[in-house]
Amino acid sequence: MNTMMEVNTRPPQVMVRGEGSWIFDDADKRYLDFVQGWAVNALGHSPKELADALREQGATLLAPSPAYHNKWALGLCDRLVHAAGLSQAFLANSGAEANECAIKLARKFGKLHRGGAFRVITTHNAFHGRTLTTMSASGKPGWDEMFPPRMEGFTKVPYGDLEAMDDAMDDETCAVMLEPIQGEAGVIVPPEGYLKSVRELATRRGVLLVLDEIQTGMGRTGRLFRFQSEGVCPDIMTLGKGLGGGVPLGAVVATKSASCFGHGEHGGTYCGNPLMARCGAAVFDVVSEPSFLHNVLERGEQLQAGLRKLSVPAGSIRTVRGAGLLVAATLATPKGAAVVERAFELGLLLNAPRPDTLRFMPSLRVDASEIAQMLDVLERALRETS
Ligand SMILES: *Cc1c(COP(=O)(O)O)cnc(C)c1O
Repeated sequence: MNTMMEVNTRPPQVMVRGEGSWIFDDADKRYLDFVQGWAVNALGHSPKELADALREQGATLLAPSPAYHNKWALGLCDRLVHAAGLSQAFLANSGAEANECAIKLARKFGKLHRGGAFRVITTHNAFHGRTLTTMSASGKPGWDEMFPPRMEGFTKVPYGDLEAMDDAMDDETCAVMLEPIQGEAGVIVPPEGYLKSVRELATRRGVLLVLDEIQTGMGRTGRLFRFQSEGVCPDIMTLGKGLGGGVPLGAVVATKSASCFGHGEHGGTYCGNPLMARCGAAVFDVVSEPSFLHNVLERGEQLQAGLRKLSVPAGSIRTVRGAGLLVAATLATPKGAAVVERAFELGLLLNAPRPDTLRFMPSLRVDASEIAQMLDVLERALRETS
């Protein structure tokens, strides 16, 4: 029997090293990686910036404890707060933890300013993490019944439906929480102006807007944060995935009034540790360069245009959607898993978030020839699966 708990299916190959857009297994077979740790490796596999940060910080200071300041936690919070135009940040170790923190802040805000309101409106098919609370906040079909009793206090509305959100809002509501583009749901881009209207609604009703930018943030969509493309500003933003560029790191960034914890109300042994914070700062300094973000937009356009032009039987790719380097293609038939499997054999890593949807989340440093190679292999995988 396998000594490792099986929480999903995996191919038998063991991955041993990575370099940029490529990952190698224990037989030294190489794969062009368009999963990249699940949209995590913003700078690709084993970037020099992170190797240096880990080596230098590992030899300097690992765990001063959250009872004391360290310069990298301070430095990363400074960077995030200034880039987002917000006031204060909290560093966590994962996306789910960042969302837990955001939900606690929203409830505290409700207690302070809205007569004990505790309810958070979230959206169908949303993904916010796998802790008990973030599973309850998520809108994945079936998740409500999985580990009863579910955590109270979440009301779900259809994504993109402003009226439903308006109707769902009441005196118990303290916040609205959503992804600017739904990632795990299959890269669902909301209707034009939706986020702006949600922002206005939240402001009018006096509730917080929490944006989960764990997948869309840190340059993935071609701006540092997705909300910047939408002309809105959240009260609370959560980050993860690309923030650490491959190491476990999350963050919550909030306005002055939403940053309302009292002493002792939140924390964590590893939160703000200098090893991960330094990695986050190293990634931030690369990703926030305008020329870096420009490449994300250009490669994203190349990817979307290439997907539309694949020479596969007419109609086999239905739609292509996304922003920057968060892109999905829907298929005419639910053969996503078969395509992913065939691509794997051909040396390409892909993800199918839905049976009829393929998702592409390459390194943000992917180059034009790697995208062209991916399209070639994908074309073959699509032809060779029925
Ligand atoms: C991945 C993801 C999370 C959860 O992050 P973890 O680091 O896996 O806990 C939450 N929200 C969104 C939008 C995500 O894509």
